[in-house]
Amino acid sequence: MAIEQVTRNGAVDPSGYGGQPVIDVRNLTKHFPVGGFVSKQVVHALEDVSFSMPRGEVVALVGESGSGKSTTARLLARLIPPTSGEIVYEGKDILKSEPRHASLDYRSDVQMVFQDPFGSLNPVHPVRYHLERPLKIHKKTRGRGQTRDRIHELLDIVGLTPPAEVAAKYPYQLSGGQRQRVAFARALAVEPRVMLADEPVSMLDVSIRIGILNLIERLKEDHGISFLYITHDIASARYIADQTNVMYAGRMVEGAESTELIDEPAHPYTKLLLSAVPNPHAGLRTEEAPSRGEIPSLIDPPPGCPFEPRCPYAMDVCKQEMPGISSLNRRHWVRCHLYPAGEAAAGMSGKLTNVSVQVNVRN
Ligand code: SF4
Repeated sequence: MAIEQVTRNGAVDPSGYGGQPVIDVRNLTKHFPVGGFVSKQVVHALEDVSFSMPRGEVVALVGESGSGKSTTARLLARLIPPTSGEIVYEGKDILKSEPRHASLDYRSDVQMVFQDPFGSLNPVHPVRYHLERPLKIHKKTRGRGQTRDRIHELLDIVGLTPPAEVAAKYPYQLSGGQRQRVAFARALAVEPRVMLADEPVSMLDVSIRIGILNLIERLKEDHGISFLYITHDIASARYIADQTNVMYAGRMVEGAESTELIDEPAHPYTKLLLSAVPNPHAGLRTEEAPSRGEIPSLIDPPPGCPFEPRCPYAMDVCKQEMPGISSLNRRHWVRCHLYPAGEAAAGMSGKLTNVSVQVNVRN
Protein backbone atom coordinates (compact mmCIF):
# COMPACT_ATOMS: atom_id res chain seq x y z
CA MET A 1 0.00 0.00 0.00
CA ALA A 2 1.39 3.38 -0.91
CA ILE A 3 1.89 5.89 1.84
CA GLU A 4 -0.41 8.45 0.31
CA GLN A 5 -3.25 5.95 0.27
CA VAL A 6 -2.96 5.91 3.98
CA THR A 7 -2.55 9.65 4.21
CA ARG A 8 -5.50 10.39 2.02
CA ASN A 9 -7.95 8.29 3.92
CA GLY A 10 -7.59 10.66 6.81
CA ALA A 11 -5.07 8.74 8.85
CA VAL A 12 -2.24 11.17 8.19
CA ASP A 13 -2.25 14.68 6.82
CA PRO A 14 -0.57 14.71 3.35
CA SER A 15 1.76 17.49 4.43
CA GLY A 16 2.09 16.08 7.89
CA TYR A 17 1.66 19.55 9.32
CA GLY A 18 -1.38 21.04 7.63
CA GLY A 19 -1.41 23.02 4.41
CA GLN A 20 -0.34 21.92 0.97
CA PRO A 21 3.17 20.54 0.75
CA VAL A 22 5.64 22.25 -1.55
CA ILE A 23 6.63 18.86 -3.01
CA ASP A 24 4.56 15.69 -2.89
CA VAL A 25 6.40 12.56 -3.99
CA ARG A 26 4.07 9.77 -5.03
CA ASN A 27 5.04 6.15 -5.63
CA LEU A 28 8.41 7.12 -7.03
CA THR A 29 10.26 4.13 -8.47
CA LYS A 30 13.67 3.91 -10.13
CA HIS A 31 15.15 0.82 -11.76
CA PHE A 32 18.64 0.95 -13.26
CA PRO A 33 19.31 -1.55 -16.07
CA VAL A 34 22.31 -3.80 -15.60
CA GLY A 35 24.11 -6.27 -17.83
CA GLY A 36 23.88 -4.39 -21.13
CA PHE A 37 21.16 -4.14 -23.77
CA VAL A 38 20.34 -7.85 -23.94
CA SER A 39 19.84 -8.26 -20.22
CA LYS A 40 16.47 -7.56 -18.68
CA GLN A 41 17.91 -7.34 -15.21
CA VAL A 42 17.48 -4.14 -13.25
CA VAL A 43 18.62 -2.76 -9.93
CA HIS A 44 15.56 -1.85 -7.89
CA ALA A 45 17.14 1.30 -6.48
CA LEU A 46 13.85 2.85 -5.41
CA GLU A 47 10.46 1.21 -4.99
CA ASP A 48 7.16 2.96 -4.42
CA VAL A 49 8.51 5.84 -2.36
CA SER A 50 6.02 8.49 -1.23
CA PHE A 51 6.44 11.44 1.10
CA SER A 52 5.62 15.11 1.39
CA MET A 53 7.75 18.16 2.00
CA PRO A 54 5.87 20.79 4.00
CA ARG A 55 6.71 24.41 3.24
CA GLY A 56 9.59 25.91 5.16
CA GLU A 57 10.47 22.71 6.95
CA VAL A 58 13.32 20.22 6.91
CA VAL A 59 12.48 16.64 5.96
CA ALA A 60 15.25 14.11 6.56
CA LEU A 61 15.81 10.87 4.66
CA VAL A 62 17.91 8.55 6.79
CA GLY A 63 19.45 5.20 5.90
CA GLU A 64 22.58 3.25 5.12
CA SER A 65 24.44 3.45 1.82
CA GLY A 66 22.34 1.87 -0.91
CA SER A 67 19.04 2.61 0.82
CA GLY A 68 17.92 4.86 -2.05
CA LYS A 69 18.06 8.26 -0.37
CA SER A 70 20.55 9.85 -2.80
CA THR A 71 18.64 8.35 -5.74
CA THR A 72 15.55 10.08 -4.37
CA ALA A 73 17.39 13.43 -4.29
CA ARG A 74 18.73 12.96 -7.83
CA LEU A 75 15.22 12.19 -9.06
CA LEU A 76 13.82 15.27 -7.33
CA ALA A 77 16.60 17.38 -8.85
CA ARG A 78 15.69 15.85 -12.23
CA LEU A 79 19.25 14.69 -12.78
CA ILE A 80 17.83 11.29 -13.71
CA PRO A 81 14.35 10.27 -14.90
CA PRO A 82 12.18 7.98 -12.76
CA THR A 83 10.87 4.62 -13.91
CA SER A 84 7.42 5.54 -12.63
CA GLY A 85 5.71 7.73 -10.08
CA GLU A 86 4.93 11.40 -9.66
CA ILE A 87 6.73 14.47 -8.35
CA VAL A 88 4.04 17.02 -7.62
CA TYR A 89 5.46 20.53 -7.20
CA GLU A 90 3.05 23.29 -6.21
CA GLY A 91 0.15 21.03 -7.17
CA LYS A 92 1.47 20.01 -10.62
CA ASP A 93 3.14 16.77 -11.65
CA ILE A 94 6.38 18.06 -13.11
CA LEU A 95 7.09 14.76 -14.84
CA LYS A 96 4.04 14.95 -17.06
CA SER A 97 3.96 16.96 -20.27
CA GLU A 98 4.89 20.44 -19.31
CA PRO A 99 5.89 23.61 -21.06
CA ARG A 100 9.63 24.16 -21.20
CA HIS A 101 9.53 27.27 -19.04
CA ALA A 102 7.77 25.33 -16.27
CA SER A 103 10.62 22.85 -16.33
CA LEU A 104 13.15 25.67 -16.13
CA ASP A 105 11.22 27.22 -13.24
CA TYR A 106 11.35 23.92 -11.37
CA ARG A 107 15.08 23.51 -11.98
CA SER A 108 15.65 26.98 -10.63
CA ASP A 109 13.27 26.60 -7.68
CA VAL A 110 14.73 23.27 -6.58
CA GLN A 111 18.48 23.38 -6.00
CA MET A 112 20.87 20.66 -4.91
CA VAL A 113 23.87 20.85 -2.59
CA PHE A 114 26.22 17.91 -2.95
CA GLN A 115 28.14 15.91 -0.43
CA ASP A 116 31.64 16.76 -1.63
CA PRO A 117 32.57 20.40 -1.08
CA PHE A 118 35.99 19.71 -2.62
CA GLY A 119 34.67 18.38 -5.92
CA SER A 120 31.72 20.75 -6.33
CA LEU A 121 33.83 23.88 -6.97
CA ASN A 122 36.09 24.41 -9.96
CA PRO A 123 39.60 24.87 -8.58
CA VAL A 124 40.74 27.25 -11.33
CA HIS A 125 38.08 29.87 -10.60
CA PRO A 126 37.66 32.15 -7.59
CA VAL A 127 34.56 32.10 -5.40
CA ARG A 128 33.23 35.15 -7.24
CA TYR A 129 33.00 33.16 -10.48
CA HIS A 130 30.95 30.38 -8.88
CA LEU A 131 28.31 32.83 -7.67
CA GLU A 132 28.38 35.07 -10.74
CA ARG A 133 27.46 32.23 -13.08
CA PRO A 134 24.03 31.32 -11.62
CA LEU A 135 23.18 35.01 -11.21
CA LYS A 136 23.89 35.58 -14.91
CA ILE A 137 22.32 32.37 -16.23
CA HIS A 138 19.09 32.95 -14.29
CA LYS A 139 19.20 36.73 -14.94
CA LYS A 140 18.97 37.59 -11.26
CA THR A 141 21.07 40.76 -11.48
CA ARG A 142 21.83 43.50 -13.97
CA GLY A 143 25.20 45.08 -14.45
CA ARG A 144 28.48 44.48 -12.69
CA GLY A 145 27.73 46.61 -9.65
CA GLN A 146 24.49 44.83 -8.83
CA THR A 147 26.11 41.43 -9.41
CA ARG A 148 29.02 42.30 -7.10
CA ASP A 149 26.67 43.54 -4.38
CA ARG A 150 24.54 40.40 -4.62
CA ILE A 151 27.62 38.16 -4.43
CA HIS A 152 28.71 39.94 -1.28
CA GLU A 153 25.20 39.66 0.14
CA LEU A 154 25.10 35.90 -0.56
CA LEU A 155 28.47 35.36 1.09
CA ASP A 156 27.31 37.36 4.07
CA ILE A 157 24.13 35.25 4.36
CA VAL A 158 26.13 32.02 4.50
CA GLY A 159 28.55 33.46 7.03
CA LEU A 160 31.61 34.03 4.84
CA THR A 161 33.08 37.38 5.77
CA PRO A 162 34.54 39.78 4.83
CA PRO A 163 32.69 39.03 1.56
CA ALA A 164 34.98 41.03 -0.73
CA GLU A 165 37.99 39.09 0.51
CA VAL A 166 36.27 35.69 0.31
CA ALA A 167 34.97 36.40 -3.21
CA ALA A 168 38.55 36.79 -4.46
CA LYS A 169 39.77 33.51 -2.95
CA TYR A 170 40.23 30.24 -4.81
CA PRO A 171 38.67 26.99 -3.50
CA TYR A 172 42.08 25.66 -2.35
CA GLN A 173 42.35 28.66 -0.02
CA LEU A 174 39.15 27.68 1.81
CA SER A 175 38.46 25.02 4.42
CA GLY A 176 35.95 22.22 3.73
CA GLY A 177 33.29 23.99 5.76
CA GLN A 178 33.88 27.26 3.90
CA ARG A 179 33.63 25.48 0.55
CA GLN A 180 30.34 23.93 1.58
CA ARG A 181 29.10 27.41 2.54
CA VAL A 182 30.05 28.61 -0.95
CA ALA A 183 28.03 25.71 -2.37
CA PHE A 184 25.03 26.87 -0.31
CA ALA A 185 25.56 30.47 -1.49
CA ARG A 186 25.65 29.26 -5.09
CA ALA A 187 22.37 27.39 -4.64
CA LEU A 188 20.90 30.43 -2.89
CA ALA A 189 21.84 32.70 -5.80
CA VAL A 190 18.83 31.57 -7.84
CA GLU A 191 16.44 32.17 -4.93
CA PRO A 192 15.27 28.56 -4.58
CA ARG A 193 12.20 27.43 -2.69
CA VAL A 194 13.55 23.95 -2.05
CA MET A 195 17.08 22.74 -1.36
CA LEU A 196 18.11 19.11 -1.64
CA ALA A 197 21.09 18.67 0.66
CA ASP A 198 22.73 15.30 -0.01
CA GLU A 199 24.92 14.41 2.97
CA PRO A 200 26.07 18.04 3.23
CA VAL A 201 28.15 17.52 6.38
CA SER A 202 29.41 13.96 6.08
CA MET A 203 32.76 14.95 4.53
CA LEU A 204 33.40 17.74 7.01
CA ASP A 205 35.22 17.64 10.31
CA VAL A 206 32.88 16.94 13.18
CA SER A 207 33.78 20.32 14.71
CA ILE A 208 32.40 22.29 11.77
CA ARG A 209 29.35 20.16 10.97
CA ILE A 210 27.21 21.99 13.49
CA GLY A 211 27.91 25.30 11.71
CA ILE A 212 26.48 23.93 8.43
CA LEU A 213 23.45 22.46 10.21
CA ASN A 214 22.85 25.84 11.84
CA LEU A 215 23.13 27.47 8.41
CA ILE A 216 20.38 25.15 7.10
CA GLU A 217 18.24 26.10 10.08
CA ARG A 218 18.82 29.81 9.39
CA LEU A 219 18.00 29.50 5.69
CA LYS A 220 14.81 27.69 6.62
CA GLU A 221 13.79 30.30 9.20
CA ASP A 222 14.93 33.49 7.45
CA HIS A 223 14.28 32.56 3.81
CA GLY A 224 11.42 30.07 4.12
CA ILE A 225 13.33 27.42 2.18
CA SER A 226 12.14 23.82 2.44
CA PHE A 227 14.95 21.30 2.80
CA LEU A 228 15.35 17.65 1.99
CA TYR A 229 18.21 16.64 4.27
CA ILE A 230 19.82 13.35 3.32
CA THR A 231 22.01 11.63 5.84
CA HIS A 232 23.15 8.31 7.26
CA ASP A 233 23.40 9.99 10.66
CA ILE A 234 20.07 9.76 12.46
CA ALA A 235 21.38 11.95 15.29
CA SER A 236 21.96 14.90 12.95
CA ALA A 237 18.48 14.35 11.49
CA ARG A 238 17.03 14.79 14.94
CA TYR A 239 19.00 18.00 15.39
CA ILE A 240 17.93 19.62 12.14
CA ALA A 241 14.82 17.93 10.73
CA ASP A 242 11.18 18.56 11.56
CA GLN A 243 10.23 15.20 10.07
CA THR A 244 12.35 12.11 9.49
CA ASN A 245 11.75 9.24 7.09
CA VAL A 246 13.83 6.07 7.32
CA MET A 247 14.79 4.17 4.17
CA TYR A 248 16.01 0.63 3.73
CA ALA A 249 16.87 -1.22 0.51
CA GLY A 250 15.07 1.29 -1.70
CA ARG A 251 11.91 1.55 0.39
CA MET A 252 10.65 3.81 3.12
CA VAL A 253 10.07 1.84 6.29
CA GLU A 254 9.10 4.45 8.89
CA GLY A 255 8.27 8.13 9.12
CA ALA A 256 7.39 10.50 11.95
CA GLU A 257 8.17 13.84 13.51
CA SER A 258 11.87 13.66 14.28
CA THR A 259 11.58 13.83 18.04
CA GLU A 260 8.94 11.09 18.11
CA LEU A 261 10.92 8.88 15.74
CA ILE A 262 13.98 9.10 17.98
CA ASP A 263 12.08 8.76 21.24
CA GLU A 264 9.64 6.07 20.12
CA PRO A 265 11.04 4.24 17.10
CA ALA A 266 8.79 1.48 15.84
CA HIS A 267 10.63 -0.30 13.02
CA PRO A 268 13.41 -2.71 14.03
CA TYR A 269 15.71 -1.04 11.47
CA THR A 270 15.16 2.40 12.98
CA LYS A 271 16.05 0.90 16.35
CA LEU A 272 19.15 -0.56 14.81
CA LEU A 273 20.24 2.83 13.46
CA LEU A 274 19.66 4.38 16.86
CA SER A 275 21.64 1.66 18.56
CA ALA A 276 24.67 2.77 16.56
CA VAL A 277 24.51 6.37 17.79
CA PRO A 278 27.27 6.99 20.32
CA ASN A 279 26.00 7.95 23.75
CA PRO A 280 28.39 10.46 25.35
CA HIS A 281 27.24 9.42 28.81
CA ALA A 282 27.41 5.67 28.36
CA GLY A 283 30.05 5.30 25.67
CA LEU A 284 29.24 3.28 22.58
CA ARG A 285 26.11 1.23 22.96
CA THR A 286 26.90 -2.38 23.45
CA GLU A 287 23.74 -3.92 22.07
CA GLU A 288 25.09 -4.05 18.57
CA ALA A 289 25.80 -7.32 18.08
CA PRO A 290 26.88 -10.16 16.25
CA SER A 291 26.72 -10.10 12.49
CA ARG A 292 23.37 -11.36 11.31
CA GLY A 293 22.17 -11.47 7.75
CA GLU A 294 22.87 -9.10 4.89
CA ILE A 295 21.15 -6.44 2.86
CA PRO A 296 19.10 -8.30 0.21
CA SER A 297 19.92 -8.20 -3.48
CA LEU A 298 18.44 -5.17 -5.20
CA ILE A 299 18.58 -7.04 -8.53
CA ASP A 300 16.46 -9.92 -7.33
CA PRO A 301 14.69 -8.56 -4.25
CA PRO A 302 12.83 -11.01 -2.02
CA PRO A 303 9.02 -10.92 -2.07
CA GLY A 304 8.78 -10.18 1.64
CA CYS A 305 10.27 -7.61 3.97
CA PRO A 306 13.78 -6.62 2.81
CA PHE A 307 14.94 -6.36 6.42
CA GLU A 308 13.96 -9.96 7.19
CA PRO A 309 17.50 -11.44 6.94
CA ARG A 310 18.71 -9.04 9.64
CA CYS A 311 15.64 -8.73 11.80
CA PRO A 312 15.57 -10.46 15.19
CA TYR A 313 11.77 -10.30 15.17
CA ALA A 314 11.27 -11.92 11.76
CA MET A 315 8.26 -14.20 11.42
CA ASP A 316 7.28 -16.62 8.65
CA VAL A 317 5.04 -14.02 7.03
CA CYS A 318 7.96 -11.59 6.77
CA LYS A 319 9.71 -13.85 4.24
CA GLN A 320 6.66 -14.11 2.02
CA GLU A 321 4.76 -10.82 2.14
CA MET A 322 5.82 -7.22 1.91
CA PRO A 323 4.38 -5.49 4.97
CA GLY A 324 1.86 -2.72 4.40
CA ILE A 325 1.70 0.64 6.08
CA SER A 326 0.50 0.88 9.67
CA SER A 327 -0.48 4.24 11.04
CA LEU A 328 0.68 4.54 14.65
CA ASN A 329 -0.78 7.98 15.05
CA ARG A 330 -1.58 10.93 12.86
CA ARG A 331 2.02 11.60 11.90
CA HIS A 332 3.79 8.35 12.62
CA TRP A 333 3.65 5.35 10.31
CA VAL A 334 5.66 2.16 9.92
CA ARG A 335 5.99 -0.64 7.38
CA CYS A 336 6.34 -3.81 9.45
CA HIS A 337 4.29 -6.96 10.07
CA LEU A 338 4.60 -6.41 13.82
CA TYR A 339 2.04 -3.66 13.40
CA PRO A 340 -1.09 -4.85 11.61
CA ALA A 341 -1.99 -2.52 8.78
CA GLY A 342 -4.27 0.26 9.87
CA GLU A 343 -3.97 -0.52 13.57
CA ALA A 344 -3.77 2.50 15.83
CA ALA A 345 -0.76 1.41 17.75
CA ALA A 346 -0.01 4.10 20.29
CA GLY A 347 2.57 2.73 22.65
CA MET A 348 3.36 -0.32 20.54
CA SER A 349 6.74 1.05 19.61
CA GLY A 350 7.86 0.52 23.18
CA LYS A 351 7.63 -3.23 22.95
CA LEU A 352 10.71 -3.69 20.80
CA THR A 353 13.83 -3.41 22.85
CA ASN A 354 17.40 -4.65 22.79
CA VAL A 355 17.67 -4.89 19.05
CA SER A 356 20.84 -6.80 18.49
CA VAL A 357 21.91 -6.99 14.91
CA GLN A 358 24.83 -5.59 13.03
CA VAL A 359 24.72 -2.01 11.84
CA ASN A 360 26.48 -1.19 8.65
CA VAL A 361 26.68 2.59 8.40
CA ARG A 362 29.07 3.52 5.66
CA ASN A 363 29.63 6.60 3.76
FE1 SF4 B 1 11.21 -7.55 11.02
FE2 SF4 B 1 9.12 -8.73 9.89
FE3 SF4 B 1 8.97 -6.18 10.65
FE4 SF4 B 1 10.44 -6.88 8.54
S1 SF4 B 1 8.23 -7.05 8.72
S2 SF4 B 1 11.04 -5.48 10.17
S3 SF4 B 1 11.23 -8.86 9.20
S4 SF4 B 1 9.26 -7.98 11.96
